[in-house]
Order: sequence, then C-alpha cells, then structure tokens
Amino acid sequence: SSFSNLSLAEPLARAVAEMGYESMTPIQAQAIPVVLTGQDVMGAAQTGTGKTAAFSLPLLQRLLKHESSSTSPARHPVRALVLLPTRELADQVAQQIALYAKYTKLRSTVVFGGMDMKPQTIELKKGVEVLVATPGRLLDHIEAKNAVLNQVEYVVLDEADRMLDIGFLPDLQRILSYLPKQRTTLLFSATFSPEIKRLASSYLQNPITIEV
Ligand code: AMP
Repeated sequence: SSFSNLSLAEPLARAVAEMGYESMTPIQAQAIPVVLTGQDVMGAAQTGTGKTAAFSLPLLQRLLKHESSSTSPARHPVRALVLLPTRELADQVAQQIALYAKYTKLRSTVVFGGMDMKPQTIELKKGVEVLVATPGRLLDHIEAKNAVLNQVEYVVLDEADRMLDIGFLPDLQRILSYLPKQRTTLLFSATFSPEIKRLASSYLQNPITIEV
C-alpha cells in the first residue's frame, strides 16, 4: 500500500516523497490508519521495520490537523512525547522525526543523559511540540521545570521491553503521572511479555494490538 492513499498533509507527503519511500512497510500499513484515529496502540515491532514512521507520521498529521486546545501562554507546548531507552535510539528517532516534520512549523528536540543539560534546556525553553527523550534525563528536566508536560496529547513508549530491562519502570511511572489522563498512548515492544502487558493495562485504554 502506498503513502499517497493516506491523504497526509502536504508538508508530510512532501517529506515522505523526498525520503524516497514508495510503499508502506507492514507495521506502517497497519499502524498508521489506527494512529490517525487517535486510538491507543500496542504494537509488536522491532527496529528496522519502519516503526518510527509508523507512529511519527500519523502523530505529526494529528498535531497539524488539531490545534492545541491549550489555553496556556506557552507558544509551543509539548504535545507529543516519545520515550526511548538509550541516547542512540533517542537520537535516531529524533533525527527521523525532524526529517518528517521539516516542511511543517512543528518543532522537535531530543534530550538524553550523558550530555550537558544547558543546551537541552535552551531548546526546551524555546518550546517544542514534539519531545524525544530518555526517561532519566527527562525527569531531570521536569524537576528543573525545563520541561512542562501538562499539555501532552500523545505519548509513545518505544522499545518498551528494553526500557523495562534497563530498569526504567519507576521513571516511566513518574513521567506518566505528570501527563494528562486524556491522551493517546502508543506502546511498541519487540515482545509482549507479562511485564509489558501489565504496563499496557495500567497506561493504555482499549488499545488496538498490532503484530507484524
Ligand atoms: P525504523 O525501523 O523506524 O528504525 O526504520 C528503519 C529505516 O527504514 C529508516 O532508515 C527509515 O528511513 C527507513 N524506512 C522507513 N519506512 C520506510 C518505507 N516505507 N520505505 C522505505 N524505507 C523506509
């Protein structure tokens, strides 16, 4: 199936065309229509399957189509949060999102540990609609009041099994406690272990399950 059948917003369609993508990968064909409806998704998919575009493109589309309902004075409140287990993965996903969003006015940035907080703080204070982060460093920024998450509409728990393996469950629980209850939650994991199922049942509402 082709991206042109999706009626993506022009700036997104242009970016996808420029990337040279012709047909959707299986996870994209299954996940994109569901994410476009705003339903929660539990997806079984590994890295390399096109998973990043599977959640990023419909998420960007929804951010473009639905104005923020925020009445807060923040001009660019964080509306989508993507959590990943490692700085390498966070960096890769943030780079892909920046490419998909390049013809839109949506801003994105990435924060991860092992680097000075200050440049990240400057970017956060400028305001971004899409924030990609690793859990520990995100909590540091939340505590420093650099990141405000009370306007988040979409959260993606990517590589969720690896986040649990690393021991990020308490950090995830704390981060999720800062988010509005009314939101869309997307969880991607290579496996649906009992721990992942427990996480999903705590934080996802009537998720659509996708396995490729
Ligand atoms: P991911 O699984 O999200 O890490 O993506 C793996 C690689 O596949 C990335 O380099 C993407 O740019 C590329 N990719 C994603 N979707 C497609 C597609 N539909 N057609 C061709 N390449 C793609």
